[in-house]
Amino acid sequence: MNRTADVLVDVLVVGAGPAGLALAARLSEAGAGRVEVLEREPEAGGMPRHLHHGGFGRPPRPWLRGPAYARRSAQEALAAGAAVRTGVTATGWAGPLTLETTSPAGLERITARAVVLATGARERPRSARLVPGSRPQGVLTTGELFQSVHRYGLPVGRRAVVVGAEPVARHAVDTLRRAGTDVVAMVTERPRAAAVPGVPLLTATTVGELRGRGRLTGVAVRHRDGRSGLLACDTVVFTGDWIPDHELARRGGIPLDLGTRGPGVDASFRTSIPGVFAVGNALHGIERAATAAGEGAAAAAPVLAHLAGAPWPEPGPPLEVRAPLLWVTPNRVTATAARPLLLLRSAEPLTAPVLTVAQDGRLLWRRRVMGPVSPSRSLRLPPTCTAHADPTGGPVVLTIREGGSDQGYPSRTLSLRR
Ligand SMILES: Cc1cc2nc3c(=O)[nH]c(=O)nc-3n(C[C@H](O)[C@H](O)[C@H](O)COP(=O)(O)OP(=O)(O)OC[C@H]3O[C@@H](n4cnc5c(N)ncnc54)[C@H](O)[C@@H]3O)c2cc1C
Repeated sequence: MNRTADVLVDVLVVGAGPAGLALAARLSEAGAGRVEVLEREPEAGGMPRHLHHGGFGRPPRPWLRGPAYARRSAQEALAAGAAVRTGVTATGWAGPLTLETTSPAGLERITARAVVLATGARERPRSARLVPGSRPQGVLTTGELFQSVHRYGLPVGRRAVVVGAEPVARHAVDTLRRAGTDVVAMVTERPRAAAVPGVPLLTATTVGELRGRGRLTGVAVRHRDGRSGLLACDTVVFTGDWIPDHELARRGGIPLDLGTRGPGVDASFRTSIPGVFAVGNALHGIERAATAAGEGAAAAAPVLAHLAGAPWPEPGPPLEVRAPLLWVTPNRVTATAARPLLLLRSAEPLTAPVLTVAQDGRLLWRRRVMGPVSPSRSLRLPPTCTAHADPTGGPVVLTIREGGSDQGYPSRTLSLRR
């Protein structure tokens, strides 16, 4: 019969991606006691391990590829004194700060003084996208494509269609080309998108149906104006539909934010369960690795404060967005904030819109955004935009309007940064 071992640590970080590793390095450097990072994969480093293009680091360095960045992040955490345990999956909760884990060595119950969820984001599979048709071979998500090509060196197919036109889709095109696959089209529902040289781009177009028995033979597509057609291909890659990997948070009864679908946090990465924090893509879906690592590093101070006995504050007013905004993180306003910026995502492309922050009908902040807003890129707002919120007031609401007036705020603009 399997025995479950009971283990005590100071901080338990779930997920050894850039966010979890950066946090573990900072905490260990600061003498936080036993800091343990769990990683279900055989190696630490998270998603960058599978991303063989350059462009990692801050600022993005063209020569720094994902696997090297992943190794460097893991080495920094280990050198600082953190314990990084691979092949260990956190499967559930046995108490508010006790996680159940499984690994080839057996089952464990790990109790910590602070738990940090750094579980990253996952792609929604084709079934969740409600694409009708048969279920042939040759239907992949980006993650499956990267694993096949980079990890297992498997052949993909001869002619591929890529669904999506975000930066991730462009990486999928590169990977397919490197595997010797001809990319016959990129298909996106968006009215506008940046094309990849040499690949036809179909905008305002949806995938209607997948055809083929055994192997995929084609993808039926429909344009918004009613035109339709069939793209002959043996491979289709669905990209860009990422959501926070929130399964563990859900199992722990940690309230999720309706916009991000990740655990709701305040500006110090605190969830509403005392002692439980969340950082990185687990909060918001795909951002740059440096953003995730920056959140991990910024969370060190509030985790240390919690270990030192700081009270867990009452949740402040919720932060909410209105369409076409999709989400904002953090999701609550608190007096003390570790996070240097708010992240905000729009569902629609906009040109130099005006952003407003208001509470109970009172305008708190307003800026015109300099430059276009893209659905595949987050806006960053300074935390001062909520500085005048009433901590006992109603929701703080963020809105964005194309061509809105910025009268009275002529010199106040917001520059876009990645
Ligand atoms: C196609 C693509 C291209 C990209 N290109 C770039 C780029 O050029 N430059 C850049 O800066 N960023 C890039 N990124 C983004 C970058 O990879 C991510 O933002 C970053 O990896 C997020 O870090 P994270 O730690 O939040 O999550 P992740 O890196 O996803 O790490 C989370 C880890 O948690 C583990 N985990 C989850 N659940 C459990 C559990 N229950 N138990 C144990 N372990 C668990 C996972 O196995 C994973 O290793 C790209 C992303 C994609 C998809």
